[in-house]
Amino acid sequence: MLRSIERSPAGVDPCGAVYDVIHKNGAVPTTDASRCPCGSGETYGGCCGPLHRGESAAATAEQLMRSRFSAFAVGDEAYLLRSWHPRTRPRSLDLDPELHWTFLEVLASTGGSPFHQSGTVEFRAHYRKPGDRGVLHENSEFCRVDGAWVYVGQLAP
Ligand SMILES: [Zn+2]
Repeated sequence: MLRSIERSPAGVDPCGAVYDVIHKNGAVPTTDASRCPCGSGETYGGCCGPLHRGESAAATAEQLMRSRFSAFAVGDEAYLLRSWHPRTRPRSLDLDPELHWTFLEVLASTGGSPFHQSGTVEFRAHYRKPGDRGVLHENSEFCRVDGAWVYVGQLAP
């Protein structure tokens, strides 16, 4: 998921005050009572947490995409690999511990419902790291493998 990392214009923080409160000092929510990193407004325990723990499965491509963003945010490498298509899955991930995924915007989606076998989700994922912040913009492709939604890869621009 690394196609076009563009830096935000200096001084502009699209996430405003909420962003700073939740992610003060780069803290990442990891308890079930925390606000879910995917920005759904639900708690982690009522949103992406059960997916990360394998207690439930994503019903839609967008839900899987959101859970993968949250997995990046909490550093759940095993979930990221598990929710990747076997054909395109990397052998391992090298997550940068200094990079914090802070905010997700879902821009558009096609297919991906409980009645589809494939779908796409276009999103902007905001991150920050010491002395820098930026945005990853990607249109991702998803499909089902044995009924479960998985991430296939990014679509060409
Ligand atoms: Zn969530």
